[in-house]
Amino acid sequence: MPLDILTIPCLSDNYAYAVRDPESGEAAVIDAPETAPILRTLAFNGWSLYQILITHHHPDHVQGLDLLHQAIEAPVIGAKADAHRLPVQLDLGVEEGDAFALGFQPVHVYDVSGHTNGHLAYYFPEGDALFTGDSLMVMGCGRLFEGTAEQMWESLTKLMELPPRTRIYSGHEYTLANAKFALTIEPENKALLDRLEQISRLRKAGEPTMGATLELELATNPFCAQTAPR
Ligand code: ZN
Ligand code: FE
Repeated sequence: MPLDILTIPCLSDNYAYAVRDPESGEAAVIDAPETAPILRTLAFNGWSLYQILITHHHPDHVQGLDLLHQAIEAPVIGAKADAHRLPVQLDLGVEEGDAFALGFQPVHVYDVSGHTNGHLAYYFPEGDALFTGDSLMVMGCGRLFEGTAEQMWESLTKLMELPPRTRIYSGHEYTLANAKFALTIEPENKALLDRLEQISRLRKAGEPTMGATLELELATNPFCAQTAPR
C-alpha cells in the first residue's frame, strides 16, 4: 500500500516531511524545524495531522514543535533517550525494535545513534519509505556529535539491510556537497557521476533530491561502501 509523502523545505536546508496513509486518511509529520511551512502544507493539501514524529533533539529538527503542537494537538512520538531534552513532552517514547501504526501503515523504529545518542529512524515497510533524520543522508551521513564512528557504522549497517527499493528521506539537503565529496573518494564511479548530473539538474530547478532508493544509495554513498571503492 503506497504512502503519500510531501517534502517540506524549512530553514535554510532542513526538510520536514508530511506522510499520509491513503486508506485511513491519517497523516503524520516527521520533524518540526519550523511551524509555518508545515501548517501551510497540511492545510493546502487538506491533510489531518494524527502524529508528530521526531528523529532527534537538535534545534533545527524541533524548534517548530512547540507551536505546531499548540496549533494541532496530535500525539508526539520520539526517542525515549531524548525525552528529557525535547521542547514538549512525549506522548510516546520509543526505542530500537518498537513499532506503532499510522492508520493502517506499520511504522518500525530503528535506533541509529552516531549523530546523537538515541537518534531514531522511522521505517514504513508498506510504503517503502525510510525517514533517517541526520543518520543516513543522500550520499553521506550526519556529522558525529555524540556518538562514535563505530556507532554510526553500526546504524548505517542496519539500514543497509532494508529492501533495496526503500526510499530514503533525510533531514537536510546536503546532497550536492555530499556528491562532490563522494567523487573525491570514488572519482571513477559511474553511478556516482550519473547521479551528480541528475541531482545538479534537480537543484538547479529548486527541487529536493530526497526519495532515491537505498539501492542507489548503496551504489553511490561512500559511507555505505562495504568493500574497497569500486
Ligand atoms: Zn542534528
Ligand atoms: Fe540537523
